[in-house]
Amino acid sequence: MTTTTDLPLLFLGKGADPATERGVECPGDLPPASDPALVARARAAKEALGDSVFVLGHHYQRDEVIQFADVTGDSFKLARDAAAKPDAPYIVFCGVHFMAESADILTTPEQKVILPDLAAGCSMADMATFDQVEDCWDALADAGIADRVVPVTYMNSSADIKGFVGRHGGVVCTSSNAKRALDWAFARGEQVLFLPDQHLGRNTAVLEMGMTLEDCVVYNPRRPSGGLTREQLRNAKMILWQGHCSVHGRFSRASVDEVRERVPGVNVLVHPECRHEVVTAADYIGSTEYIIKALDAAEPGSSWAIGTELNLVKRLAAAHPDKNVMFLDKAVCFCSTMNRIDLPHLVWALESLVRGEVPNQITVDPDTAHHARAALDQMLALP
Ligand code: SF4
Repeated sequence: MTTTTDLPLLFLGKGADPATERGVECPGDLPPASDPALVARARAAKEALGDSVFVLGHHYQRDEVIQFADVTGDSFKLARDAAAKPDAPYIVFCGVHFMAESADILTTPEQKVILPDLAAGCSMADMATFDQVEDCWDALADAGIADRVVPVTYMNSSADIKGFVGRHGGVVCTSSNAKRALDWAFARGEQVLFLPDQHLGRNTAVLEMGMTLEDCVVYNPRRPSGGLTREQLRNAKMILWQGHCSVHGRFSRASVDEVRERVPGVNVLVHPECRHEVVTAADYIGSTEYIIKALDAAEPGSSWAIGTELNLVKRLAAAHPDKNVMFLDKAVCFCSTMNRIDLPHLVWALESLVRGEVPNQITVDPDTAHHARAALDQMLALP
């Protein structure tokens, strides 16, 4: 189980409290967003902390935050970057909760990982709770298949879920290595339970591994036995958890058709967390790192409609003024939880550290961390 400071906070991924906004409280003064001195305050606090603080910025973070990141990257790269900095006692993670947990698992016990706003969760990670996954495993045992199923979880899951997967001999994957993780899993078992993103699981199985849509079933954690019969569970190659990213899940086939009609010759580039009908209509599919490299390599004058988080797309458009870079959907599509980390929260976290206080520390209990680490190490050892 995760623990944190003794604030009256809602543990992310541990339940919901729709009547309140518990989880957003910051003791002391939270500077207003319009404070013109915030940039100077962030700079001064970072300078005062020197090498004792290492600030990580996920690609989906706001520009006002990214400007203070020592490194940027996707969730796995950032966790590895944090692990490569054992001399920094404080890791300030500008990203979401599951990423800070992974950083805590991969860093030394002496290092403290800080999430500037504890409300920065991930709706996808929250779609698979530990109890639900335990119930699912019981359903697989009832169907007589638990011993031939290998669990694979996407990096975008809580430490509890990674720990579950580690306990059951499975592996973590990212959007870049999902095929290699599935190859590894199918060499050890006949079926895979893929958590928590059904789209990444389905897209990888069908587009990269030659399976059919009929080889995949969707396990609904809100229904007994996932809403599946024993026969359906036994016959499926991929048992996909019914989870999705609320950002990438918004893109539709209609948005692809619309942009093709509006922009002749446009290249449609989408993240594999998008729905199957979107990735099959796209020209290119890849992780955030792949998307960044594809734009770097693109011809001047070429047009690109990108299906991923809007902060990244805006940054790519600004970085490539010689290319026509646009957002795939007409509606605004920021990740609302990523955006919880803003400059006021970053300043608050940094200034707290300057005062000798450690705010919003994210820690994973040793038993969960041990098993989660096994699943993460297995990913690192993938051929
Ligand atoms: S973009 Fe999607 S997967 Fe990433 S943090 Fe936001 S909700 Fe989670």
